[in-house]
Amino acid sequence: METKLFRREGTPFNLTTEVRNDGLYPYFMEPRKCYRCGGQGGSDAWKNTGYKCYDCLGSGMHKNGPQKVRLYTEEQLTRLNAIKAKKDATEQAKGERAKAKAEEEAFMRMLMFTAKHGDLLDRAEPYETRSEFIRDVCAKAREKWELSDKQAEALSNAIARFQEADKGKEASEYMGSVGERLRGLQATVIKQVVLPVISEFSSCLTITTLRAETGEMIVVKSNAFRARPGAVLVIDGSVKKHNIYNGEKQTQLKIVKIKKVVFEPEEEEDLAA
Ligand SMILES: [Zn+2]
Repeated sequence: METKLFRREGTPFNLTTEVRNDGLYPYFMEPRKCYRCGGQGGSDAWKNTGYKCYDCLGSGMHKNGPQKVRLYTEEQLTRLNAIKAKKDATEQAKGERAKAKAEEEAFMRMLMFTAKHGDLLDRAEPYETRSEFIRDVCAKAREKWELSDKQAEALSNAIARFQEADKGKEASEYMGSVGERLRGLQATVIKQVVLPVISEFSSCLTITTLRAETGEMIVVKSNAFRARPGAVLVIDGSVKKHNIYNGEKQTQLKIVKIKKVVFEPEEEEDLAA
Protein backbone atom coordinates (compact mmCIF):
# COMPACT_ATOMS: atom_id res chain seq x y z
CA MET A 1 0.00 0.00 0.00
CA GLU A 2 1.22 3.43 -0.92
CA THR A 3 1.89 5.92 1.92
CA LYS A 4 -0.09 9.12 1.66
CA LEU A 5 2.06 12.22 1.38
CA PHE A 6 1.38 15.86 2.24
CA ARG A 7 2.89 19.24 1.66
CA ARG A 8 4.19 21.06 4.73
CA GLU A 9 1.02 23.12 5.11
CA GLY A 10 -1.07 19.93 5.08
CA THR A 11 -2.46 19.73 1.54
CA PRO A 12 -2.42 16.15 0.29
CA PHE A 13 -0.07 15.44 -2.58
CA ASN A 14 -2.05 13.84 -5.39
CA LEU A 15 -0.11 14.61 -8.52
CA THR A 16 1.16 11.92 -10.79
CA THR A 17 4.61 13.56 -10.72
CA GLU A 18 7.47 11.30 -9.72
CA VAL A 19 8.25 11.34 -6.01
CA ARG A 20 11.95 11.27 -5.20
CA ASN A 21 13.75 10.99 -1.90
CA ASP A 22 16.74 12.97 -0.60
CA GLY A 23 17.35 10.56 2.25
CA LEU A 24 15.52 12.72 4.75
CA TYR A 25 12.17 13.43 3.13
CA PRO A 26 10.42 12.55 -0.07
CA TYR A 27 10.08 15.42 -2.52
CA PHE A 28 8.94 16.26 -5.99
CA MET A 29 9.93 18.91 -8.52
CA GLU A 30 7.15 21.42 -9.01
CA PRO A 31 7.14 23.43 -12.23
CA ARG A 32 7.11 27.19 -11.69
CA LYS A 33 5.82 29.92 -13.93
CA CYS A 34 8.06 32.71 -15.11
CA TYR A 35 7.69 35.47 -12.52
CA ARG A 36 8.10 38.20 -15.16
CA CYS A 37 5.42 37.22 -17.65
CA GLY A 38 3.36 35.08 -15.30
CA GLY A 39 3.66 32.12 -17.62
CA GLN A 40 2.32 33.91 -20.67
CA GLY A 41 5.68 33.91 -22.41
CA GLY A 42 5.13 37.47 -23.52
CA SER A 43 2.88 40.46 -23.25
CA ASP A 44 1.13 43.00 -25.46
CA ALA A 45 2.63 45.64 -23.20
CA TRP A 46 6.06 44.79 -24.57
CA LYS A 47 5.02 44.60 -28.22
CA ASN A 48 7.09 47.64 -29.22
CA THR A 49 10.26 45.91 -28.09
CA GLY A 50 9.18 42.45 -29.19
CA TYR A 51 6.28 40.54 -27.64
CA LYS A 52 8.41 37.74 -26.20
CA CYS A 53 9.44 37.76 -22.51
CA TYR A 54 13.23 38.06 -22.26
CA ASP A 55 13.35 36.27 -18.95
CA CYS A 56 11.94 32.93 -20.09
CA LEU A 57 12.52 33.53 -23.80
CA GLY A 58 8.85 32.87 -24.37
CA SER A 59 8.61 29.49 -22.64
CA GLY A 60 6.63 30.91 -19.71
CA MET A 61 8.66 28.72 -17.36
CA HIS A 62 10.71 30.01 -14.44
CA LYS A 63 14.30 30.66 -15.51
CA ASN A 64 15.66 28.61 -12.59
CA GLY A 65 13.49 25.64 -13.47
CA PRO A 66 11.11 23.76 -11.19
CA GLN A 67 11.40 24.03 -7.43
CA LYS A 68 11.99 21.24 -4.99
CA VAL A 69 8.94 20.69 -2.78
CA ARG A 70 9.31 18.44 0.22
CA LEU A 71 6.58 16.02 1.16
CA TYR A 72 5.74 14.52 4.52
CA THR A 73 3.95 11.51 5.80
CA GLU A 74 1.04 12.13 8.12
CA GLU A 75 3.15 11.01 11.06
CA GLN A 76 6.00 13.37 10.19
CA LEU A 77 3.60 16.22 9.74
CA THR A 78 1.94 15.60 13.09
CA ARG A 79 5.31 15.53 14.82
CA LEU A 80 6.53 18.70 13.07
CA ASN A 81 3.32 20.51 13.90
CA ALA A 82 3.54 19.47 17.55
CA ILE A 83 7.11 20.80 17.73
CA LYS A 84 6.04 24.04 16.11
CA ALA A 85 3.03 24.44 18.42
CA LYS A 86 5.26 23.93 21.44
CA LYS A 87 7.76 26.45 20.12
CA ASP A 88 5.00 28.98 19.42
CA ALA A 89 3.59 28.49 22.91
CA THR A 90 7.04 29.05 24.44
CA GLU A 91 7.51 32.19 22.37
CA GLN A 92 4.10 33.46 23.40
CA ALA A 93 4.75 32.78 27.06
CA LYS A 94 8.08 34.55 26.75
CA GLY A 95 6.36 37.52 25.12
CA GLU A 96 3.73 37.64 27.85
CA ARG A 97 6.36 37.49 30.58
CA ALA A 98 8.30 40.30 28.93
CA LYS A 99 5.12 42.34 28.60
CA ALA A 100 4.19 41.79 32.24
CA LYS A 101 7.70 42.75 33.28
CA ALA A 102 7.59 45.93 31.18
CA GLU A 103 4.21 46.84 32.66
CA GLU A 104 5.50 46.31 36.16
CA GLU A 105 8.55 48.43 35.45
CA ALA A 106 6.40 51.19 33.97
CA PHE A 107 4.20 51.10 37.06
CA MET A 108 7.22 51.35 39.35
CA ARG A 109 8.58 54.22 37.29
CA MET A 110 5.23 55.94 37.56
CA LEU A 111 5.21 55.50 41.36
CA MET A 112 8.73 56.81 41.73
CA PHE A 113 8.06 59.63 39.33
CA THR A 114 4.89 60.65 41.18
CA ALA A 115 6.71 60.59 44.50
CA LYS A 116 9.41 62.86 43.11
CA HIS A 117 7.58 65.14 40.67
CA GLY A 118 3.86 64.71 41.39
CA ASP A 119 3.60 68.06 43.16
CA LEU A 120 5.40 69.85 40.36
CA LEU A 121 3.06 68.39 37.75
CA ASP A 122 0.04 69.34 39.85
CA ARG A 123 1.34 72.90 40.08
CA ALA A 124 1.97 72.96 36.33
CA GLU A 125 -1.50 71.78 35.38
CA PRO A 126 -3.32 75.15 35.55
CA TYR A 127 -0.76 76.63 33.15
CA GLU A 128 -0.77 73.89 30.54
CA THR A 129 -3.38 75.66 28.45
CA ARG A 130 -1.40 78.88 28.61
CA SER A 131 2.08 77.66 27.81
CA GLU A 132 3.13 75.35 25.03
CA PHE A 133 6.38 74.69 26.85
CA ILE A 134 4.69 73.64 30.07
CA ARG A 135 2.18 71.54 28.12
CA ASP A 136 4.94 69.77 26.14
CA VAL A 137 7.15 69.04 29.11
CA CYS A 138 4.23 67.69 31.17
CA ALA A 139 2.91 65.54 28.34
CA LYS A 140 6.33 64.01 27.71
CA ALA A 141 6.91 63.49 31.41
CA ARG A 142 3.61 61.63 31.79
CA GLU A 143 4.22 59.57 28.69
CA LYS A 144 7.44 58.01 29.93
CA TRP A 145 7.39 59.00 33.59
CA GLU A 146 10.67 60.75 33.10
CA LEU A 147 11.79 64.28 33.83
CA SER A 148 15.40 65.38 33.93
CA ASP A 149 16.57 67.69 36.71
CA LYS A 150 17.09 70.39 34.13
CA GLN A 151 13.56 69.99 32.76
CA ALA A 152 12.11 69.99 36.27
CA GLU A 153 13.93 73.20 37.06
CA ALA A 154 12.83 74.87 33.83
CA LEU A 155 9.25 73.78 34.48
CA SER A 156 9.36 75.11 38.00
CA ASN A 157 10.76 78.44 36.75
CA ALA A 158 8.07 78.70 34.08
CA ILE A 159 5.35 78.12 36.68
CA ALA A 160 6.89 80.70 38.97
CA ARG A 161 6.89 83.26 36.17
CA PHE A 162 3.21 82.69 35.50
CA GLN A 163 2.37 82.93 39.17
CA GLU A 164 4.36 86.12 39.42
CA ALA A 165 2.72 87.54 36.30
CA ASP A 166 -0.76 86.64 37.54
CA LYS A 167 -0.25 88.19 40.92
CA GLY A 168 -1.01 91.75 39.90
CA LYS A 169 -3.82 90.97 37.49
CA GLU A 170 -6.78 92.14 39.58
CA ALA A 171 -4.86 95.09 40.90
CA SER A 172 -3.55 96.22 37.55
CA GLU A 173 -3.73 99.95 36.98
CA TYR A 174 -2.80 102.23 34.11
CA MET A 175 0.74 103.54 34.06
CA GLY A 176 1.61 107.19 33.51
CA SER A 177 -0.41 109.46 31.26
CA VAL A 178 -0.69 109.37 27.48
CA GLY A 179 2.43 110.88 25.89
CA GLU A 180 4.51 110.53 29.03
CA ARG A 181 7.93 108.88 28.74
CA LEU A 182 8.28 106.20 31.43
CA ARG A 183 11.83 105.31 32.36
CA GLY A 184 13.47 102.39 34.12
CA LEU A 185 10.39 100.13 34.20
CA GLN A 186 11.16 96.58 35.23
CA ALA A 187 8.86 94.05 33.61
CA THR A 188 8.62 90.36 32.77
CA VAL A 189 7.82 89.37 29.20
CA ILE A 190 4.69 87.20 29.28
CA LYS A 191 4.02 86.56 25.65
CA GLN A 192 5.17 87.58 22.24
CA VAL A 193 3.09 86.82 19.18
CA VAL A 194 3.65 87.70 15.55
CA LEU A 195 0.44 88.32 13.63
CA PRO A 196 0.26 88.54 9.86
CA VAL A 197 -1.11 91.92 8.74
CA ILE A 198 -1.55 93.65 5.43
CA SER A 199 -0.14 97.13 5.37
CA GLU A 200 2.15 99.07 3.09
CA PHE A 201 4.92 99.03 5.69
CA SER A 202 4.97 95.50 6.97
CA SER A 203 3.55 92.01 6.57
CA CYS A 204 3.44 91.26 10.28
CA LEU A 205 2.89 92.82 13.66
CA THR A 206 4.72 91.72 16.78
CA ILE A 207 2.67 92.07 19.94
CA THR A 208 4.46 91.72 23.24
CA THR A 209 2.75 91.63 26.60
CA LEU A 210 4.67 92.29 29.76
CA ARG A 211 3.86 92.46 33.45
CA ALA A 212 5.50 95.30 35.34
CA GLU A 213 7.10 94.30 38.63
CA THR A 214 4.52 96.55 40.27
CA GLY A 215 1.74 94.44 38.70
CA GLU A 216 0.56 96.56 35.75
CA MET A 217 -0.04 95.06 32.32
CA ILE A 218 2.02 96.51 29.47
CA VAL A 219 1.60 95.91 25.76
CA VAL A 220 4.02 96.82 22.99
CA LYS A 221 3.00 96.57 19.33
CA SER A 222 6.24 96.83 17.41
CA ASN A 223 8.30 94.54 15.24
CA ALA A 224 11.43 96.23 16.55
CA PHE A 225 10.82 95.01 20.08
CA ARG A 226 11.98 91.42 20.38
CA ALA A 227 12.05 89.62 23.69
CA ARG A 228 11.64 86.05 24.81
CA PRO A 229 8.81 85.11 27.19
CA GLY A 230 10.18 84.85 30.68
CA ALA A 231 12.79 87.54 30.13
CA VAL A 232 12.96 90.21 32.80
CA LEU A 233 13.83 93.60 31.33
CA VAL A 234 14.30 97.19 32.34
CA ILE A 235 12.71 99.37 29.64
CA ASP A 236 11.96 102.95 28.70
CA GLY A 237 8.79 103.62 26.76
CA SER A 238 6.26 106.32 25.92
CA VAL A 239 2.60 105.82 26.85
CA LYS A 240 0.63 105.51 23.62
CA LYS A 241 -2.75 104.72 25.12
CA HIS A 242 -4.65 103.14 27.97
CA ASN A 243 -7.26 100.47 27.31
CA ILE A 244 -8.97 97.42 28.72
CA TYR A 245 -7.96 94.03 27.40
CA ASN A 246 -9.41 90.75 28.66
CA GLY A 247 -11.03 92.69 31.47
CA GLU A 248 -7.75 94.17 32.57
CA LYS A 249 -6.38 97.67 32.37
CA GLN A 250 -3.32 97.79 30.17
CA THR A 251 -0.87 100.43 29.14
CA GLN A 252 0.35 100.43 25.56
CA LEU A 253 3.89 101.71 25.16
CA LYS A 254 5.69 102.88 22.04
CA ILE A 255 9.31 103.69 21.21
CA VAL A 256 10.39 101.07 23.70
CA LYS A 257 14.08 100.74 24.46
CA ILE A 258 15.56 97.87 26.43
CA LYS A 259 17.91 99.43 28.95
CA LYS A 260 18.92 96.29 30.77
CA VAL A 261 18.31 92.54 30.65
CA VAL A 262 17.84 91.37 34.24
CA PHE A 263 17.04 87.78 33.35
CA GLU A 264 17.31 85.90 30.09
CA PRO A 265 15.48 82.57 30.01
CA GLU A 266 17.09 79.51 28.53
CA GLU A 267 15.90 78.21 25.19
CA GLU A 268 12.89 76.34 26.49
CA GLU A 269 12.30 74.61 23.18
CA ASP A 270 15.60 72.81 23.62
CA LEU A 271 14.66 71.62 27.07
CA ALA A 272 11.28 70.37 25.96
CA ALA A 273 12.80 68.25 23.23
ZN1 LIG B 1 8.56 34.94 -19.03
